[in-house]
Amino acid sequence: MKIICIGRNYIDHAKELNNPVPKRPVFFMKPDSALVIRNRPFFYPEFSKDVHHELEVVIKIDRLGRSIQEKFASRYYSEVGLGIDFTARDLQAEMKSKGLPWEIAKGFDYSAPVSKFFPLSKFKDINQIHFHLKLNGETVQTGNTQDMIFSFDKIIAYVSQFVTLKTGDLIYTGTPAGVGPVQINDHLEAYLEENKIMDFYVK
Ligand code: MG
Repeated sequence: MKIICIGRNYIDHAKELNNPVPKRPVFFMKPDSALVIRNRPFFYPEFSKDVHHELEVVIKIDRLGRSIQEKFASRYYSEVGLGIDFTARDLQAEMKSKGLPWEIAKGFDYSAPVSKFFPLSKFKDINQIHFHLKLNGETVQTGNTQDMIFSFDKIIAYVSQFVTLKTGDLIYTGTPAGVGPVQINDHLEAYLEENKIMDFYVK
């Protein structure tokens, strides 16, 4: 499986990092070795001094597809969860300034914790799902899928022009504002609507 991540999909987050609001989705990938499941700890990497949390809604692809039209995109996913796109912001800034790829800042081991998945049928409107992140008990990120620049269907249509989507692939759909650093021993709890579905520590 592969992990596809959308960058700058919430205007308020693009602004907080002084990035332009994109006209097309920006995407990058993490390897499957980045995945962390079942609330296992996130191990802080030795090569960074500024790892940030980015809470994101994650959809799981459940059908093979390429060059998927937007109007058919909803047939390719039926479950949703949350994930953290951990980012070594110091390395990312360095790579960005040199015009180099972001992999070392985004794709490192443990950089993609993910929750369990829930059927989309449980939600009244998938384009209006509320989610938030608590760091040591304090809410630091709050988002709603209604504020995405590119909807799930638009993302699938765009990405699948370039990359075949396969069953089990995950798409991290971008972070709202409020990203910030984590430290060893921090406690992270993530909520989809009112349900806490992630609860883990930084080690
Ligand atoms: Mg992100």
